[in-house]
Amino acid sequence: MAASGTLSTFRLPPLPTIREIIKLFRLQAVKQLSQNFLLDLRLTDKIVRKAGNLTNAYVYEVGPGPGGITRSILNANVAELLVVEKDSRFIPGLKMLSDAAPGKLRIVHGDVLTYKVERAFPESLKRRWEDDPPNVHIIGNLPFNVSTPLIIKWLENVSCRDGPFVYGRTQMTLTFQKEVAERLTASTGSKQRSRLSVMAQYLCHVQHILTIPGRAFVPKPEVDVGVVCFTPLTQPQIQQPFKLVERVVQNAFQFRRKYCYRGLGMLFPEAQRVESTEKLLELADVDPTLRPGQLSVAHFKSLCDVYRKMCDEDPRLFTYNFREELKQNKSNNQEKEKDPERSRR
Ligand code: SAM
Repeated sequence: MAASGTLSTFRLPPLPTIREIIKLFRLQAVKQLSQNFLLDLRLTDKIVRKAGNLTNAYVYEVGPGPGGITRSILNANVAELLVVEKDSRFIPGLKMLSDAAPGKLRIVHGDVLTYKVERAFPESLKRRWEDDPPNVHIIGNLPFNVSTPLIIKWLENVSCRDGPFVYGRTQMTLTFQKEVAERLTASTGSKQRSRLSVMAQYLCHVQHILTIPGRAFVPKPEVDVGVVCFTPLTQPQIQQPFKLVERVVQNAFQFRRKYCYRGLGMLFPEAQRVESTEKLLELADVDPTLRPGQLSVAHFKSLCDVYRKMCDEDPRLFTYNFREELKQNKSNNQEKEKDPERSRR
């Protein structure tokens, strides 16, 4: 491990290229696992530079695969790099890298969706939330079907200050399908504005820092890729539990093209829908004829604060699910159709 404060720089010794590693260990991408590799080390260097100064940093790389980004991180003079890879075929190639960087690379064969990184790095790295971010970074090029649920999970961790955020405001640099990267960073009123934009932006400063053309990957994915950096805010813009915010935002975006009162109405049982939606929008001072994409984070803050008060007054609201009510109504109607006599009794 590099001692902090030293000026020594680390460079990996000459190694086989990533293409050679893929051949040597027969690491053909598995299509079902959406594996797309970056072989160009100039590009992986560029991604890693975008993550900021990693000197003496503790880095958690998710899904290292054949190790392109891994090499760039090791060459950035980090104190330690922890990689978590699900596919066992990649472990021998990663071990070769670990031998070339003694004491710097820790390999875990596991799943990033369940791995507990909160115990992985020294306690001494912890910073108070209000302080500058700790010298802990998350970097990863994951399959798209993993990166979206993972970012939702990590945003919840940001809100609870647990998981990778027990160290403080840990920064993340992650790849997404370009369209998802655009949604994550979309401003109020833009075409890509969505549930993800609000959920990410109320908790983090979010930047789409780089677009990588699909042709840079092997095999080439159908779409281009966006690299997004997240830095948790010292003060979340909405100070309500994550699940409550998620519920309000999800409902608001239910009917994207309609006025926002339509989706927000789904927060309330049918019998009180009109009245409660009017109350919510009036107390939150939100124009009911705005479309969901025109609602700013400040609008969502007022909506969540008022909705919270309404839930406190009537706790059944928080567990209300309009789909269940619909299902229940449907099955009651079917019962009536089958046996009109019985339903009259
Ligand atoms: N980082 C490498 C690169 O840029 O060339 C590989 C990228 S490939 C898109 C995604 C990698 O994540 C694969 O190595 C895959 O096996 C791994 N992976 C997929 N799901 C994972 C999970 N749940 N936990 C850990 N690794 C995962």
